Amino acid sequence: MRALILSDIHANLEALEAVFADAQDRGGFDVIWCLGDTVGYGPDPGACVDRIREFDLVAVAGNHDHAAVGLIDAHDFNAAAKAAAEWTAGQIDAGQREFITSLPMVSVQDPFTLVHGSLRDPIVEYLLDRDSASGTLALMETAYCLVGHSHIPFLCCEVDGNPQFPEFVDFPEDAPVVLDGERRIINPGGVGQPRDRDPRPSYAVYDSEEAIIKRHRVTYDIAKTQEKMKAADLPERLIERLDHGL
Ligand code: ZN
Repeated sequence: MRALILSDIHANLEALEAVFADAQDRGGFDVIWCLGDTVGYGPDPGACVDRIREFDLVAVAGNHDHAAVGLIDAHDFNAAAKAAAEWTAGQIDAGQREFITSLPMVSVQDPFTLVHGSLRDPIVEYLLDRDSASGTLALMETAYCLVGHSHIPFLCCEVDGNPQFPEFVDFPEDAPVVLDGERRIINPGGVGQPRDRDPRPSYAVYDSEEAIIKRHRVTYDIAKTQEKMKAADLPERLIERLDHGL
């Protein structure tokens, strides 16, 4: 079984299609595991929701998904994110809204647990440091946990079975990472709005037969997405950041 692992699509249809094409070229996939924030920021929220639902899909909710359907108040968001959340809420239809509203916060796909932020706080917490990582390692009931939210790819490994001092390491590109049972937290990076100073969408594929996970990056037509965002009057800051991967 091959699972295509996507996070933070953020309504960027061009980035999503580029990932699909690349994943098909690399041997395809049987199921999509989506780690949340399918909508928000970008110009095609409804189309992105519909597109991932064309496949076998396991998805969890992100903070921007919840903001788009009114499950959380966007008052914590910065001005640009809030404006985009309000715009997004007006773009999705009743069926898309129902789908987003029904998403669970956590999904166990053994040997993985899928969550947007962290197991300690599935929607809000950014898992980027030792404290947040050890909080999630302590709650993990599977060997591996997949997270998104920060849009930054990484592997975080438990050292010597001690969840207190996990180690963050690079999640290499195009190189197989062997899943040997050692407990790990894995972030595949962001599809629709990468934030690791590389504007190329990032995603991962898990192969259960080989027990490996691989991360890949693709290029896409950034200008096309930006044109759509301009036409929709989305905030300039959100349009510009796509050039920089920030
Ligand atoms: Zn996000």
